[in-house]
Amino acid sequence: MLRLFAKILKTGVVTERIKRPDAAELETLGIEVKRQVDKYFSGSIAIRAIDAGSCNGCELEIHALNNPFYDVERYGIHFVASPRHADVLLVTGPVSRHMQTALLRTYEATPNPKWVIAVGDCAACGGEFGVSYASCGAVANVIPVDIVIPGCPPTPETLVKGLLSLMKK
Ligand code: SF4
Repeated sequence: MLRLFAKILKTGVVTERIKRPDAAELETLGIEVKRQVDKYFSGSIAIRAIDAGSCNGCELEIHALNNPFYDVERYGIHFVASPRHADVLLVTGPVSRHMQTALLRTYEATPNPKWVIAVGDCAACGGEFGVSYASCGAVANVIPVDIVIPGCPPTPETLVKGLLSLMKK
């Protein structure tokens, strides 16, 4: 046991160091998002997140949007449990063949007007999974996509910026 602790202390942190998000910059971004949400969505925008086959890396970043630091609810961005209540579908992953029909049905169940954001490199182009017997590849191969937020995975800040660019489109 002691040998294990000694090894841990000797090795230190081996993961990639992350850039600390700039709280002031984030606040400015949030205020701009809130302005757009108030203007075009009467104060609140509803997002339905769909994991169509992701490795869950993108989901971790999406979940972070609701943590106490990012707390995007304060800007009027809400995640909802049903596509019937959604304005925006946030889709991650290459679309696995098993999720193809579910994704199509979710898209059809979302009321018009609706927007689709493909999140992450896999959703953008299939990523390293590409198109195969198990994968349809990009989200755009299954449903229409309005914007793509690239990254593997994109940071919460990048996600908010992507949402803002969709609202300004
Ligand atoms: S883009 Fe990266 S983090 Fe997101 S699902 Fe693909 S491999 Fe995972």
